[in-house]
Formats: sequence, C-alpha cells, structure tokens
Amino acid sequence: MFTRTTRGTSLEIDQSSCTGCLRCVRYCRRRALGITHRDGEPRPTIVALDRCKYCGKCARVCPSGAITLSPARAGHAETAATNAGILLIVAALVVAALVLLREGVEIFIT
Ligand code: SF4
Ligand code: SF4
Repeated sequence: MFTRTTRGTSLEIDQSSCTGCLRCVRYCRRRALGITHRDGEPRPTIVALDRCKYCGKCARVCPSGAITLSPARAGHAETAATNAGILLIVAALVVAALVLLREGVEIFIT
C-alpha cells in the first residue's frame, strides 16, 4: 500500500491490486503521479502530492480499483461548504451595511 496524506486528505495506491497499466499516470493532468519500478515492473507512485487536486480521475480510470481517495475527500466538500457559508455571511453583512448607509444618508438629507 502506498499512501500519501496532506491536510487530512490522502491518496492511496494498493500495490497488491495494481497491474501496472499506468492509466492513472497517463490520466493525471496535474502530473502528481509518476512511474517507479518494483521487481522490474513499472508501477505508479505519487511524486508530487501538492499538485494533486483530488479530482479522482486516477481512481475512476483504474481498472483494478487500486486507487482510493481517503474519506477526507469529504473534508474538501466540508471546507467548500464552510467557505460558501462565510461568503454568504459576508455578503449579508455588506448588504446590511449598504442599507444602513442608505438610510443614514436619507436621514442626513431630510
Ligand atoms: S490505473 Fe490502477 S492498475 Fe493501472 S497502474 Fe494505476 S493503480 Fe495500477
Ligand atoms: S486525484 Fe486527480 S490530480 Fe490527484 S493524482 Fe489522481 S488524477 Fe492526479
């Protein structure tokens, strides 16, 4: 099993299920995966996890189900949801400030 983890998210390649087809390497546009050799056979390896965007393409194209994105992928969704929530709050505060400002200007004018 070859696992790399970053910020609570991990990508796992089960070497015992891997057939070495290297589809995962070819499909990774981020070039996060590379090729290594085990017992003279080419095998995928994670070379630059910082480039990985956890798109899941490598796992989807793997014919043997050897690649697993950790459950922490849900953490990405949670982070996105949190960010969306923060944006909504900021937008609501901006609208409230504009309304107050407008009312203040109207009071000042009248
Ligand atoms: S696609 Fe799957 S079987 Fe093929 S090299 Fe990658 S991990 Fe191994
Ligand atoms: S999850 Fe996406 S970016 Fe990460 S290694 Fe797989 S194909 Fe590349």
